[in-house]
Amino acid sequence: GPAVARDFIRQIIDEDMKTGKWGGRVHTRFPPEPNGYLHLGHAKSICLNFGLARDFAGQCNLRFDDTNPAKEEVEYVDAIEDDVRWLGFDWDDRLFYASDYFGKLYGFAETLIEKGLAYVDDLSQEEIRAYRGTLTEPGRDSPYRDRTPAENLDLFRRMRAGEFPDGAKVLRAKIDMKSPNVVLRDPVLYRIKHVTHHRTGDTWCIYPMYDYTHCVSDALEGVTHSICSLEFENNRPLYDWVLNNLPVPGHPQQIEFARLNLSYTVLSKRKLIQLVTEGVVSGWDDPRLPTLRGVRRRGYTPEAIRDFCERIGISKAENMVDMALLEHCLREDLNRRAKRVMAVLRPLKVVIENYPEGQTEAIEFPYHPEDPAMGSRQVPFGRELYIERDDFMETPAKKWFRLAPGAEVRLRYAYYVTCTEVIKDPATGEVVELRCTHDPATKGGWSEDGRKVRGTLHWVSAAHALPAEVRLYDRLFTRENPSGGKGDFKESLNPDSLEVIENALIEPALASLPVGENVQFERLGYFCVDKDSTPDKRVFNRAVALKDSWAR
Ligand code: ATP
Ligand code: MG
Ligand code: MG
Repeated sequence: GPAVARDFIRQIIDEDMKTGKWGGRVHTRFPPEPNGYLHLGHAKSICLNFGLARDFAGQCNLRFDDTNPAKEEVEYVDAIEDDVRWLGFDWDDRLFYASDYFGKLYGFAETLIEKGLAYVDDLSQEEIRAYRGTLTEPGRDSPYRDRTPAENLDLFRRMRAGEFPDGAKVLRAKIDMKSPNVVLRDPVLYRIKHVTHHRTGDTWCIYPMYDYTHCVSDALEGVTHSICSLEFENNRPLYDWVLNNLPVPGHPQQIEFARLNLSYTVLSKRKLIQLVTEGVVSGWDDPRLPTLRGVRRRGYTPEAIRDFCERIGISKAENMVDMALLEHCLREDLNRRAKRVMAVLRPLKVVIENYPEGQTEAIEFPYHPEDPAMGSRQVPFGRELYIERDDFMETPAKKWFRLAPGAEVRLRYAYYVTCTEVIKDPATGEVVELRCTHDPATKGGWSEDGRKVRGTLHWVSAAHALPAEVRLYDRLFTRENPSGGKGDFKESLNPDSLEVIENALIEPALASLPVGENVQFERLGYFCVDKDSTPDKRVFNRAVALKDSWAR
């Protein structure tokens, strides 16, 4: 694989390999909760966990952390599997569900009770919170804390049997209500939820909490390095407490890293769900969203996202990554791979007066100027063409090398043309058509006399062009950190994040371009065929604009 910088996690593992701490094994996992679609933050975690397995010849599990039946759905499970594969990773036969361990987790809970390390508490959720204290104030013991193991075992079994309603009781670890670490103040291990689970149905009416489930699942799967984001740093002592007190087959090492924050967007399932359910965007795959579904539909490639994750690296310090870096990675990838084709977004008609009426010629265009292996196609040229409205100025600015009255420009690979007349709508004064002449001696877009023609324009033949819809995107938020500062994150939504151009024109070679295919529209950017395309009308998303357009 590619040379990967030794980030602090790789350094830890290098050392483990030297000392033989795990017997030379590296086993990681990616543990999504199936309660939403994956986003670019998850991509960082996927690239890290699966990347470590790849680089150290180890293994990486895909495990669904499905302990909260109220919020989880099969739809999300399927989408997550699909997204991980799309990113280019494979868990082979190592697909697991935390719910597979409900039986074992229950047995381990009884073990903790028998050891006097867990108790059934009748306090309500609010009371538990009040008793827990704060960072500056120690917690207080629950009045139920001193129940005997026998009493606790009886109550816990009855919880499981469904004798009590939701919220009536919980099982708590008996650790230390005065611990400076609030997480260790007798955390809840189990709660009652009479809710059907998407995999276990109605087998259970008590469900284990994340902190209890996660470490046990890691241990049962033989995980060596359990990598999570920084906000779980305070939970690490609990992770270790649970495993130290149970007869589990191993004790993985939890390591925290800084999660990805990306400018001008939000990476939080909770916030993304709001945007979708409130109709701010069209769905989970809206091309403006940072979901993997969204960026994929927008035209992002797995290669670009993996490259991005490698470049941002892994650290312990939170920071904000510039969206421009992600765009740069995409341009680099597509510059190599996307075919160059022509489309006109805002058409302006051009009539070549000295070109024979009814005549058409085919002009050979390479698909990539630097990669002949990508082949070529014939582009029809005729007397009537369309060029980009922006490429004409009636009163040209300084250094305007594009079309203007009397000016000569090159039509890409075709001819030099000179504008001889500007036709306007008499009512509005709007320019509706340009009359030009071409120099037949410049066929191919060059001349023997070497005269200087600096502007090169893209174009389509009026008789052959096909209609297309083009969707241009801008950042979804106007603030670099929409979640930072006062107020709701939605206050900084960008009202102009989507511009739809309904009457664009594309060259005929694009008639049957498949959905998901990336192309470069010369001078306009990289575009991807959208799933809304019909046989009569292709729809394109602009994935990213070109940084530099050639020969303006
Ligand atoms: P969200 O905050 O969006 O709800 P989450 O962390 O709750 O995300 P999970 O499904 O639990 O979502 O995440 C699975 C894994 O992905 C976890 O290990 C988590 O640390 C990691 N992850 C989630 N968001 C990011 C991020 N922004 N950067 C890096 N890793 C992330
Ligand atoms: Mg989570
Ligand atoms: Mg979360």
